[in-house]
Amino acid sequence: MYQQLPFDELKVDPTQKKRIAYFYDADIGNYAYGAGHPMKPHRIRMAHSLIMNYGLYKKMEIYRAKPATKQEMCQFHTDEYIDFISRVSPDNLDLFAKESVKFNVGDDCPVFDGLFEYCGISGGGSMEGAARLNRGKCDIAINYAGGLHHAKKSEASGFCYLNDIVLGIIELLRYHPRVLYIDIDVHHGDGVEEAFYTTDRVMTCSFHKYGEFFPGTGELRDIGVGKGKYHSVNVPLRDGIDDATYKSVFEPLISKIVEWYQPSAIVLQCGGDSLSGDRLGCFNLSMEGHANCINFVKSFNIPLMVLGGGGYTMRNVARTWAFESGLLNNVKLPQELPYNEYYEYYAPNYTLEVRNSNMYNQNSPEFLDKIMTSILTNLENTKHAPSVQMNVVPNDPEDLGDVEEDTAIALDTKGGSEMARDAQIQPDNEYYDEDDKDKGERNVNLNEVDKDDTMQIDNNDTIEAKEEEEDDDDDEKKKKKKKEEEEKGEKEKVVGNGSGHAETSGLETEDAMEVDSAPASTLAPTQGSTQGSTPAPVTTNEVTGANVSNGENKANGAPTLTEEELKEIQELNESL
Ligand SMILES: [Zn+2]
Repeated sequence: MYQQLPFDELKVDPTQKKRIAYFYDADIGNYAYGAGHPMKPHRIRMAHSLIMNYGLYKKMEIYRAKPATKQEMCQFHTDEYIDFISRVSPDNLDLFAKESVKFNVGDDCPVFDGLFEYCGISGGGSMEGAARLNRGKCDIAINYAGGLHHAKKSEASGFCYLNDIVLGIIELLRYHPRVLYIDIDVHHGDGVEEAFYTTDRVMTCSFHKYGEFFPGTGELRDIGVGKGKYHSVNVPLRDGIDDATYKSVFEPLISKIVEWYQPSAIVLQCGGDSLSGDRLGCFNLSMEGHANCINFVKSFNIPLMVLGGGGYTMRNVARTWAFESGLLNNVKLPQELPYNEYYEYYAPNYTLEVRNSNMYNQNSPEFLDKIMTSILTNLENTKHAPSVQMNVVPNDPEDLGDVEEDTAIALDTKGGSEMARDAQIQPDNEYYDEDDKDKGERNVNLNEVDKDDTMQIDNNDTIEAKEEEEDDDDDEKKKKKKKEEEEKGEKEKVVGNGSGHAETSGLETEDAMEVDSAPASTLAPTQGSTQGSTPAPVTTNEVTGANVSNGENKANGAPTLTEEELKEIQELNESL
């Protein structure tokens, strides 16, 4: 089934317009995991600076999302874990010795100043991105501060504390019957897979290095359980995979999955540690090889959320995410880097490129053929059977009042019922085109709300001024600003992009236990893909997979779930 494709030059169609909402919080680059730690949120600021200086702000809407609240975080994580994250600091760490072990903070996932705020920014961007996609306000949402795929329900892992991806997907599931998650980080997307392991509402597909590598999970035979059977796809790869080889695996598999599953939204984790020369990674993708995945996924014209992830050679991560942001806007950015605040990082050539190395590709055609045959056979022999019946409106426990009572915050951020109503009343003329930009999302009642809490930046000066102001912020100013924002319920357009994620070393397990059970149900599909239009509200009584692990580490294969854990997952899935 494996056939090597040529790696052609990437193509964009400049006549095609996508409405892109880009989330950035200028504070993100100020957080630091500690000296010597490979994860550097600063790379998000570097990427952002390139994106702005290449002029992409003219094509995208740029937002600063309201940080995720504790309550929102607890839609996936446990209360006690989030409570711990919100209270612990380097100064009081000794008071939390027991909890630190329990929640796995320490070496890989250190406690640093502002940890909780950092998590809030990452999560807020992904949740708000999802909310805008839900409301049909954009075709693509970008949050490079997100993509922290290792975080577990009750445990930090691999440089990740809050699983913004799971939170974003839960938000998407309010409207979307089926969400496809694709992960091109060099590490297995274990936290996301685990969260949705028993549901068919989310299909996860992770391409990663497998074998003596963090986190140790993600083998070919891990395919999901119960209703989720066949809805987890793992593509375990070896060192040195190059552009043409990656493309030859990625494109046919993703095509087949999209055809089979018919997702109405896609979440793409764009971890930059699969690039050649990454400090922790071992793949050999050039910038184009990595970006081809983004370009390919975009070509399906399905509502898309693009997230960051790993990536430990900062200059290359920044280059690649900037280049990919260009592609999402149907622009191929020129190779010569524009001058920017971090220009010196790009010495000696100051170009927008990440080249392949001459490392040996350990992925033989026979090895890849085995992988693809296994995955494609699973799909071909199974009729996809979405279990969700649509057209019930989501229930949100809090606030079932009418639209007039919705606050600006409620309308324009995460949240549930407010948005559910938005989508229902959304008129056709709500979209706007480029020329009409300064009017924002007007014309509709809910647009008025948006206008109030969304300041649009439409020229570079404004953006720079804004950034400068934020960069210079001292604590007091920050506090004051935060307070003002809270009062305003604001969410202003600013600038930026994202990060997040983690790793360590890995274990490989040869024998994952099979925890298979009931076959997928056989209800007829209820809905095709919604291709860029506002999806109908979905509901479900039997929903989503959230919550899975309880903190015990599973360093060896998804099916390391105990029966008890599995039961817990299933109960949670059914209760959502
Ligand atoms: Zn990674």
